[in-house]
Amino acid sequence: MSDNRTDVVVLGAGIVGVSAAFSVRQRGMSVVLVDRREPGSETSYGNAGVLSSGSISPLNNPSLWSALPKYLTNQHAALRWNIGWAARNPDWVLRFLANARESRLRSRATALHGLIGASLKLHREWIVKAGAAQRIRETGWLKAWRSDAVASARLEQALLAEYGIESQLLDRQEISALEPSIVPVYKVGLLHTQTASVDSPGNVVKAYAKMLAGTGGEVRQSDIKAIVPEADGWRVEVADGAIAARHVVVALGPWSSDILRPLGYRVPLAFERGYHREYKPNPARILRRPIHDADGSFLMTPMENGVRVTSGVELTDRDAPSSFAQIDAVEPMARGVVEFGETVGETWRGSRPTLPDSLPMIGPAPRHQGLWLAFGNQHIGFTTGPATGSAIAAMIGGAPPSFDVTAFAPSRYL
Ligand SMILES: Cc1cc2nc3c(=O)[nH]c(=O)nc-3n(C[C@H](O)[C@H](O)[C@H](O)COP(=O)(O)OP(=O)(O)OC[C@H]3O[C@@H](n4cnc5c(N)ncnc54)[C@H](O)[C@@H]3O)c2cc1C
Repeated sequence: MSDNRTDVVVLGAGIVGVSAAFSVRQRGMSVVLVDRREPGSETSYGNAGVLSSGSISPLNNPSLWSALPKYLTNQHAALRWNIGWAARNPDWVLRFLANARESRLRSRATALHGLIGASLKLHREWIVKAGAAQRIRETGWLKAWRSDAVASARLEQALLAEYGIESQLLDRQEISALEPSIVPVYKVGLLHTQTASVDSPGNVVKAYAKMLAGTGGEVRQSDIKAIVPEADGWRVEVADGAIAARHVVVALGPWSSDILRPLGYRVPLAFERGYHREYKPNPARILRRPIHDADGSFLMTPMENGVRVTSGVELTDRDAPSSFAQIDAVEPMARGVVEFGETVGETWRGSRPTLPDSLPMIGPAPRHQGLWLAFGNQHIGFTTGPATGSAIAAMIGGAPPSFDVTAFAPSRYL
């Protein structure tokens, strides 16, 4: 290996990769961050921008079982699935369902709570350092039900309270007082008071990448072709050459499994695809915070370019053609909550990268020295990116991460 090799190459400039690269730099190591696009242009661009304090109970929690019959019809806005995909991926489906047991809830909630807590702290610190503090709103996140769902809301509140996560149960009048611009369609609300949100997740990632460059990290735009182990480190083959490094961090989000396959790792990564559409806001009807319509199965959130409506989950191949059925179905419901104008730009599609236990992989690859895995952050990757990255940087530097990473060990699947 040449002497001018870098300490760490981070693959992927989504929120996870940018966070890993910045944390590596903060520890005094040299770093090159590589992506074929500008930082924050893929999944970390199109999400709903919620920095969620309370997303400790993954989609495959025990309530999935009672919802399953309605999902089997494949007509529900919350979850659609491709039969051919399910037939080709029975292992993932069965393992995902097996994790929806009551006995698997608390340990995963505890692990996610540690990751989320550490990450929110970093986001709140970094967004100021990066000169992007105007993008964060500390107005919470409202989950709201059209039905008389007080019992469900109370159950959710009790689980959050077990972990010290604050929330407020609201009735129709209290929801109207909180969000005066919306039509009073919701009977029950649960306000996650410690949750924040941003008005442009893509621009927040870009601001963090700029902060990385300001500290001497190199941001390189190139297509990554392969990673090759060498005697004393790694060679990363990119479209315009190769980069030699002591350590490689795979933070390619939904593309992470592809690069690992030639090394013999078969990662059980699935793609919970989702869509967003943005609409011109009515200046007289401004939303103050993201609202999750629990019965309608969509989320709407005020963004820099308009009201962003995001859809539920579509389980299929990552690159299968788009189907706009879910986002089309929820648009009239969203319009019935808050008045907004025509669409702005194209409908966007992305993939939430998800492992069968809905926990990310954060740690060393089991059979290769100097290879680190940081992906699989499912529905909460924008929230959990910073702590995922900082934990990887700590481990590379031989220091303990700031939260317990045991449950995220890649060796549980590889
Ligand atoms: C509809 C929707 C709503 C969501 N809402 C939220 C939310 O409100 N809050 C939240 O916390 N999370 C949310 N998420 C989840 C979150 O967006 C993801 O978990 C997170 O963005 C994943 O980040 P990442 O860095 O792992 O991946 P990405 O952001 O996808 O980054 C991976 C990068 O790898 C690059 N790449 C891939 N292959 C190559 C290659 N061969 N060569 C070079 N570069 C390559 C890509 O260009 C990309 O930039 C949502 C997701 C969706 C789909």
